[in-house]
Amino acid sequence: MPADIVETTVMGDFTFVKAVTPPDGYNTSSDGPSIPAKDIKAYRESLIIACSFCHKSFRYKLVCAKCKVAAYCSKECQKKQWPLHKFVCQESKAAAKLKLVTTLMSIPRFELTLMSTFAFTFGLHKKMILDRPLIMQCDLAVDAADMSIIFSLTSGKQTPDDYPDGVEGMLQLKWFSPLDPAVVIDPGRRKIWEEARAKNHVKRRAPIGKYVTGLIDFHMEGTDQVITMPLNIADQAIALSRMVAGGVCAQDPVLRHEINVPFSPRVAIGTMDMIIRDDKKNHLRLRTHMPKEALYKYVGNNINEHDLDMLPTTTYATKDGKRIKTAVPRLNGPY
Ligand SMILES: [Zn+2]
Ligand SMILES: [Zn+2]
Repeated sequence: MPADIVETTVMGDFTFVKAVTPPDGYNTSSDGPSIPAKDIKAYRESLIIACSFCHKSFRYKLVCAKCKVAAYCSKECQKKQWPLHKFVCQESKAAAKLKLVTTLMSIPRFELTLMSTFAFTFGLHKKMILDRPLIMQCDLAVDAADMSIIFSLTSGKQTPDDYPDGVEGMLQLKWFSPLDPAVVIDPGRRKIWEEARAKNHVKRRAPIGKYVTGLIDFHMEGTDQVITMPLNIADQAIALSRMVAGGVCAQDPVLRHEINVPFSPRVAIGTMDMIIRDDKKNHLRLRTHMPKEALYKYVGNNINEHDLDMLPTTTYATKDGKRIKTAVPRLNGPY
């Protein structure tokens, strides 16, 4: 497929091309070792998540068959929650399911990025906050993996009827925002936080209150459901947030020159999204089917301009008309 170019910049002999559809063979995910699927699966299954009814933490087990978002520790809890859950449990049009969230959290480079973005957002590199739950909202969506489809739909060149069987979708992060715990904390979240915090301290053989435990509220686009997951912030992530606070070094692998860009959650989101987007072979298991109905979000009044802004493009370079294998500007320093 030819590259769908949105912007070109000439620098010396090189032309930098920003494209929505990178040329075939271009794959930044080859930068990092891919994680064997069985390792992602094993880690995902070892994750502790909270029961949507009793909020007790348990190992990934029982998921609502209809929406595939709500999780329960037992059939009893699922039954007890149903009178309330039925109002939010529409068969999710958005396709952003619990499995994608837990897979995201099972990929070490993403988990560390989430932790350090969390630490940065709450200023933990300057001052530790240990006595209360900190909560970050993370908006998630599933977008068409082939972005030319998105542009064809938003521009009206095509309609979802052109894709009766749906298309391949991919998980994308849309936004991080810190929430005021005084406002959003409820007994359920407090229980999740207290349990995760206690377990983390037992694991690290330390008195409670020594390490930071946060909560992430994953908001799934197209549903009113929220998945709250604990995040025990590793020391490494605090150190990382301290380093990125001074800006991050984006290195161009062709020109080898480095530029300093101020770090923001958006930098972190953009980088993660681009890695997912360029993972065409789905090593990361963050791709999923996107049914035809889900494509209506790209049509007419349903379009969320903010979400469109967040769609990552891919940068690559050419010299003498030939494409040079390059990579997404990487956050490669100083850590
Ligand atoms: Zn339960
Ligand atoms: Zn459900």
